[in-house]
Amino acid sequence: MRRFADRIGGPLALFRLTCSTHEYGYVVAVKLGRLLKSVQGDVGMQRYYILEREMDAEDEGFASVVSQAYALREKPVCLCRRDEVLPLYISFRHNQHVLSRWPGTGAKHAPGCEHYEAPDFLTGLGQVRGSAIVEDQDTGDTDLKFAFPLSRGPARAAPAALTNDKPSVKSNGQRLSMRGMLHYLWDRAQLTHWHPKMKDKRNWYIVRRALQAAALSCRAKGENFGQMLFIPETFRLEKKDEIAARRESELMPVHASRDAIMVVIGEVKSIEEARFGEKIVLRHLPDWPFVLDKDMARRFHRRFAVEQQLWNSDGGKCHLVMAGTFSLSDSGLPELIEVTIMPVTEQWLPFETLDERRLIDKAIADERRFVKGLRVNLARDVPIASLSLTDTGPSATAVFLAHNRVDPAYDEALHALMNTPGVEHIVWRTGAQLPSARSTRTARPARSNLTLQ
Ligand SMILES: [Zn+2]
Repeated sequence: MRRFADRIGGPLALFRLTCSTHEYGYVVAVKLGRLLKSVQGDVGMQRYYILEREMDAEDEGFASVVSQAYALREKPVCLCRRDEVLPLYISFRHNQHVLSRWPGTGAKHAPGCEHYEAPDFLTGLGQVRGSAIVEDQDTGDTDLKFAFPLSRGPARAAPAALTNDKPSVKSNGQRLSMRGMLHYLWDRAQLTHWHPKMKDKRNWYIVRRALQAAALSCRAKGENFGQMLFIPETFRLEKKDEIAARRESELMPVHASRDAIMVVIGEVKSIEEARFGEKIVLRHLPDWPFVLDKDMARRFHRRFAVEQQLWNSDGGKCHLVMAGTFSLSDSGLPELIEVTIMPVTEQWLPFETLDERRLIDKAIADERRFVKGLRVNLARDVPIASLSLTDTGPSATAVFLAHNRVDPAYDEALHALMNTPGVEHIVWRTGAQLPSARSTRTARPARSNLTLQ
């Protein structure tokens, strides 16, 4: 790990270059700030054609060239592949210039490129992109349409849904279910991306920061989604008063109106018996439980039996993430309206079966680079690529889990997916090897893998 500031030295050491990989953009900003550990790992050297010259993202002055290009409305070009012209656009958001690929071009970049994304159709993203998720090419902002309400409305309709991934919702991609929202945000925050250098670097602090940045670049009902999202911060005893004050400030919308609804994302610490039902306690938020009455608790356990089994079965190594909407009751405690839970590995990579967990563990143990595929709104009986290896040469390799049940409709859908061009495809079963890694790049010095703030 090299320190950019150390390398440039002198008074410039006070300034630090942020080359981060939030969502599909490439964030370029110069800021004063405190050194933070990288979460994103080495993403390879990014090279661009910008203002009639070739530059590496790490070149001195790159940030100011990007800022000039933005002012002149010039479009940079990504040079990860010399056989394709891959234009990017620059937007300015939250005091940072962001280099973003054009919608629909992610799969054309080289698999090792920062702007690469596995084709949407391999995962649940294909179903919702363009309908529930609409990208604005002028601003770089993204509008999300949710299948759950963000306000109780004048009638104060009684919350009864608990989960909204009913067949009518999951069968079309017009609006994101609660799980769809969580999956999309996880993907946009690039928490689905894995590189060996990320090992042991992800923790709740990192996950929270990435999710917040992803939410801030999205809108829901015309408002910034980041303002509606509450993610409890890592608790530290010596900072408990400051943390409590920040929490109250973040919860202002639900304090201001009983009709207001916010979204919470947190790690489940425990699901416990309570006096008249059960309560879900989130880590870092022990004094603010989400209470379920007996009926809600019964439906919760029935609906999320698989997720809870996976969470309970590995000796406490994996985490369970909860996303839900809530309002405040008169007591000041949250009232959960709709909810979903998602098991993630100790590296915070989501999984939905034991086999998938084994595949992720294998890819990590083999020090592979990959992007985890997510289901978003799709039903469990629809095949998706569990992950896409991005270190297999000029084409990524989509990995599908073998399944043993007799299901001609599934087999047919899988066959169609595996015949689509642009990526290699393999079916993997427990105990099998993965295709070998191949270099996709000419040798270059590794880029500093620090995210600086
Ligand atoms: Zn590229």
